[in-house]
Amino acid sequence: MSTKGTHIPDWLQVPFAGITPAPTQKGQDLFPTGNWRSIRPVYRDKMPPCNNACGTNEKIQGYLDLVKRGKYLDAYALIKEDMPFPSVTGRVCYHPCEQACNRGKYDEAISIRAVERFLGDLGQALPKDVVKAGTPNGKKVVVVGSGPAGHSAAYQLARLGYAVTILEKSPKAGGLNRGGIPDWVLPQDVLDREIERLVELGITIKTNTEVGKDVSWDDLRKNYDACILAVGLIDPNSIRAEGEDKAGVHYGLPFLRDIGMGTPSTTSVKLGPRVAVIGGGNTAIDCAREAFRQGAQEVTMITVEGTTTEMPCVPEDLHDCVEEGVELKHGLACTAVLGNGKVEALQLHPAKFSGAINASPIAVDREAKAERFAVDNVIIAVGQHASLKWLPDEFKNEKGAIKADRFGRLGTTNVFAAGDIVQLGSGQPLMVVNAVGDGKRTAFNVDKVLRGEPLHERMVAIDVITDLARMNMTYFPKFPRVQQPMLAPASRRKTQDEVILAFTEEQAIDEANRCFSCGTCNACDNCYLVCPEPCIIRYDRSNGLYKILVDYCKGCRVCIEECPTGCLEGVPELDFDTGVVRMETAFAVTQGLHGRQAEELRNLPDRPAKTIE
Ligand SMILES: Cc1cc2nc3c(=O)[nH]c(=O)nc-3n(C[C@H](O)[C@H](O)[C@H](O)COP(=O)(O)OP(=O)(O)OC[C@H]3O[C@@H](n4cnc5c(N)ncnc54)[C@H](O)[C@@H]3O)c2cc1C
Ligand code: SF4
Ligand code: SF4
Ligand code: SF4
Repeated sequence: MSTKGTHIPDWLQVPFAGITPAPTQKGQDLFPTGNWRSIRPVYRDKMPPCNNACGTNEKIQGYLDLVKRGKYLDAYALIKEDMPFPSVTGRVCYHPCEQACNRGKYDEAISIRAVERFLGDLGQALPKDVVKAGTPNGKKVVVVGSGPAGHSAAYQLARLGYAVTILEKSPKAGGLNRGGIPDWVLPQDVLDREIERLVELGITIKTNTEVGKDVSWDDLRKNYDACILAVGLIDPNSIRAEGEDKAGVHYGLPFLRDIGMGTPSTTSVKLGPRVAVIGGGNTAIDCAREAFRQGAQEVTMITVEGTTTEMPCVPEDLHDCVEEGVELKHGLACTAVLGNGKVEALQLHPAKFSGAINASPIAVDREAKAERFAVDNVIIAVGQHASLKWLPDEFKNEKGAIKADRFGRLGTTNVFAAGDIVQLGSGQPLMVVNAVGDGKRTAFNVDKVLRGEPLHERMVAIDVITDLARMNMTYFPKFPRVQQPMLAPASRRKTQDEVILAFTEEQAIDEANRCFSCGTCNACDNCYLVCPEPCIIRYDRSNGLYKILVDYCKGCRVCIEECPTGCLEGVPELDFDTGVVRMETAFAVTQGLHGRQAEELRNLPDRPAKTIE
């Protein structure tokens, strides 16, 4: 492509890399390969969709790459930047990362959660964690609530050097990780070990300590430099049916909490043979499956949703639930609990959501003939709400949860809130990983406030690579997802043993090897090997340590086309509409090692031809 006639302003007539040479002898001298190149390759790491979908933005591509290379400890250390307890999320997370994984469009999504669990379990086995507390900075922060949001906030604050105290009203720490998620998903000893890790970081945990009873709102503000309220949604919703107060009626969250806080064999929960669970979400599914483990022989879920696909739950959990023998009755609302003092049956009417599923009032057809459904117990699992009598009204929103600004801050105070208590109704699904991410970001903003620095907005990724056409798929043979082993349905429904089992080391490597490394250099060396000129130099076989000597690049695109991951891209040399411009030559500005090492690479001098070995 000729640049003849193109006006080059004086200030551009200098030999920077990235400027098309003037079509003069000087330009030819400066750029030995001439001036016909129209594009130049640039390493620009993109945001993989998995990292973007994870509520705490774990560097998934990064740790999968390390697992592939057998660098498990490095992979564990990388995860721990964003996630305090991969052994927990590796078991309980609803894995939005897998729903977003590009491999799902090709054959099957990467089993990210299972690899995370493999790393989390490796971390649990270490005598000492890889994470250390920061140098003490003399400031004290109190975190109210020891669920995922409080746990994550306390963890990040301790790493920043704060003296952190967690106040927890329950007898044991863990929030819904303990008193919600059942043992057969998350064994107590795994959570205990992660709580111990917090104590090893120097965090003080005071259980049986309730704000509003043992500690006042004023105490929180007076005795600490800052406070994070991570108090969750701890009171169960009612279905407002007649007779709901009869004996034998349980609510989902207290039902699971009683079991989680006691030992399952000594729990006070006793169920008869026929149990109905009202609700179609994840909590209802946990209750239904737990009911079998607490002695029920027939368990039926009653949902307003008309079909299984409309149920607001994780499909594979629903599959496992049905496999264990739970029956489903759809399109029904319980309008009364019948019985003489104790529940004997439910009165059911046809019902549907009047608008969007789960976000609108329920329309009940009371003209239709009611069904009488005989049961011994009923468990109502239709959501939770906040319990904040102790909080001044000015900090509450219309949903009865905490009103915080986009940084999680309550007005201009040094009090912040994180987790379910602020995410309710925000459009963010209420789940462990979102609470962890919120706790992390809020901790960083507490740090900013205490240092008198501007608060951070939540980062929005600028280039999430979701189009497979931006990568070179010929490098990726189809390969089925490695399945996690599971207990058989008949044996598992009577025990608290973990249902889903761990990957072996070989399985973890096989699964990590399936990762495309979307948009991110993984040091495969392809560009380095295919370039027909001596243009691509490598300081080490590691992401971020490749560099293009643009003086010698012909712009043939071979490196770009042959990059499997799509991290190399061509940027045009000239903008013919507006004249000659200096092109974007910097490495990625956001995520990935190229982004982080851009500065270092920019400072490396381009070596002139005669010194190239
Ligand atoms: C039954 C159930 C099962 C779930 N299963 C999953 C799952 O498998 N995967 C998933 O990703 N998500 C799951 N979720 C959702 C997930 O558990 C929540 O989104 C997450 O726990 C929210 O974390 P949090 O820290 O905001 O609140 P919580 O976990 O609710 O923790 C809040 C803590 O604050 C304490 N607290 C409250 N008030 C006070 C006070 N006044 N003083 C002192 N302490 C106080 C509470 O006792 C509690 O320990 C489940 C939810 C439920 C209800
Ligand atoms: S925490 Fe959840 S969303 Fe994040 S990587 Fe792990 S499984 Fe995926
Ligand atoms: S293939 Fe790998 S990098 Fe790409 S979305 Fe899936 S897990 Fe992430
Ligand atoms: S393969 Fe070499 S010459 Fe071709 S565009 Fe890439 S760096 Fe330039």
